Amino acid sequence: MYMSKYKIAIIGSGPAGLSAAIYTSRAEIDTTIYAGEEPGGQLTKTTEIENYPGVMGKTGPELMLTMTEQAQKFGAKIIYETVDDLTKVQKEFDGIILAMGASSRLLGVGEERYWGKGFSTCAVCDAAFYRGKNVYVVGGGDSAIEDAWALTKFASKVTILVRKTEFRASKAMQKRVNDHPEKIKVMWETNLKEIRGERVEELVLDVGGKEQVVKADGLFFAIGHIPATGFLKNSAVKLDDQGYIVNGNDGWPTMTSLDGVFAAGDCVDHRYRQAVTAAGMGVSAALDIEKWLESR
Ligand code: NAP
Repeated sequence: MYMSKYKIAIIGSGPAGLSAAIYTSRAEIDTTIYAGEEPGGQLTKTTEIENYPGVMGKTGPELMLTMTEQAQKFGAKIIYETVDDLTKVQKEFDGIILAMGASSRLLGVGEERYWGKGFSTCAVCDAAFYRGKNVYVVGGGDSAIEDAWALTKFASKVTILVRKTEFRASKAMQKRVNDHPEKIKVMWETNLKEIRGERVEELVLDVGGKEQVVKADGLFFAIGHIPATGFLKNSAVKLDDQGYIVNGNDGWPTMTSLDGVFAAGDCVDHRYRQAVTAAGMGVSAALDIEKWLESR
């Protein structure tokens, strides 16, 4: 039986982790994926995928299942466990790719019941489903304005709900809103309290201390992301002040500050956050780890 020279672990089973696994297992590196308790990552929370090149007519969960089967076909093994101690994994493997992703920050007002039923945290992914609709975006940062802007291309009415009396977003982004009051409305000092309907139908808002109920067809959150890097806080893997992994050690673009530990996808990237960009970075990490193993 063929025995691979190297044994690596990939932590995370979203597009970054699975794309990395397809490449490392095809390169005959013994690959084990720690898939976590919710395998598949953020795409499993979306419905139809329209913006992944080459994929049409598939849902997020179907795409992730195909990626998983593709990785397994080349020999990758999957363990449905969450890693909470990196040193334990380091002892067993020659190299590691971290690909735990990030999750959108939520409010806890019952929104999880509405995933795929009018609630989304990715306007870039889902805006096109809201043609002619009345939609709301929660948040006051660059993402909220960027999402609202993306939605104006399809929706007939876009309103941003900001909890303070000012945006956190950059002046340039705020200009988009100020210059186009006919496209984007803003409600200041507004907090979302409740969502009503089978799908998103009504929102209960607190506007400056007064309750207001509005009709809505869609609801988007843009209140930040949380990288799934909590278990690395006391490790030697360098994180930035928001908890994202900082790559670029020793001339390897995808290596973390810890030798032999690489990272890819949304746990590194807070800018693009797309399944395609995460998959691409996963491939870069796979090619880097392969070369790094050979170079030792
Ligand atoms: P962010 O800058 O952290 O903004 C998050 C927004 O959500 C803030 O307005 C915050 O309100 C609000 N928020 C947080 N928790 C909330 C809650 N519980 N209820 C209501 N509102 C809440 O996050 P981001 O907009 O995702 O941006 C992340 C980073 O990416 C930033 O550095 C940003 O500049 C960058 N980015 C850049 C671009 C671009 O340049 N094109 C586009 C997108 C993102 P408060 O202001 O009241 O705290």
